[in-house]
Amino acid sequence: MLSLKTSIIGKKVIYYQEISSTNDVAKSLDVEEGTVIVADRQTKGRGRLNRKWISPEGGLWLSVVLKPKVAPQDIPKIVFLGAIGVVRTLEELSIPGRIKWPNDVLVNFRKISGILTEKVGEKVILGIGINVNNDAPENGIAVKDVLGKEVSLVHVFKILLENLDELYEIYLKSPGTIVELARELMILNVPVKVLGNGEVVGIAEDIDEDGRLVLRLGNGEIRKIIYGDVSLRFL
Ligand code: ADP
Repeated sequence: MLSLKTSIIGKKVIYYQEISSTNDVAKSLDVEEGTVIVADRQTKGRGRLNRKWISPEGGLWLSVVLKPKVAPQDIPKIVFLGAIGVVRTLEELSIPGRIKWPNDVLVNFRKISGILTEKVGEKVILGIGINVNNDAPENGIAVKDVLGKEVSLVHVFKILLENLDELYEIYLKSPGTIVELARELMILNVPVKVLGNGEVVGIAEDIDEDGRLVLRLGNGEIRKIIYGDVSLRFL
């Protein structure tokens, strides 16, 4: 038993040894809000734009099924809820994580965790992957690399769900607060390249109240970037 101190998230947990992708299964199942799908390994883990997410045994790969009754413009903020939850969880392990807009958590500028949110009907699937005891791919990092030892995956799972539950309660009452909290943890004031429809270079100055990236271009002009299909690279 997990004995979770949560009110919505993790009321039901469905565990698989191996799965295609926790997000895909979460999308296909008819389950109550807060249900968590977790797997030891994913054979078809995905990032955004169908990029591959490497998910061997030893990492934490999960998806939470949410059914938030909020305004449509508040749905994209759920990705920040996930990122803050990961940073708070890492903090409990004495690891300082920062958010790379919009959907990654980095430690020492290496990716330790990625978040993938997907909306299907009334459901929003919050997918979270964290490198814990697994070997992280090149340019990534795992909890075990930072701490120099392995940690209990169940412990990390539990504190993550508790953090997410607390943040979800805040989100439902005040989605804007989630953006504010994410802003405090975000890597800002750094030169970046935004790849998507073409390429834009500038300083990632801030995020606005809707979570858009505020980019200052070389000529001083400000451009706001919606997170949809763009990728950010630090320069
Ligand atoms: P990006 O960070 O390029 O915007 P995504 O957020 O969609 O892309 O994440 C997918 C990318 O994350 C992959 O292309 C790969 O570079 C990287 N990646 C895949 N698996 C892992 C992992 N387990 N840990 C860290 N990084 C990973």
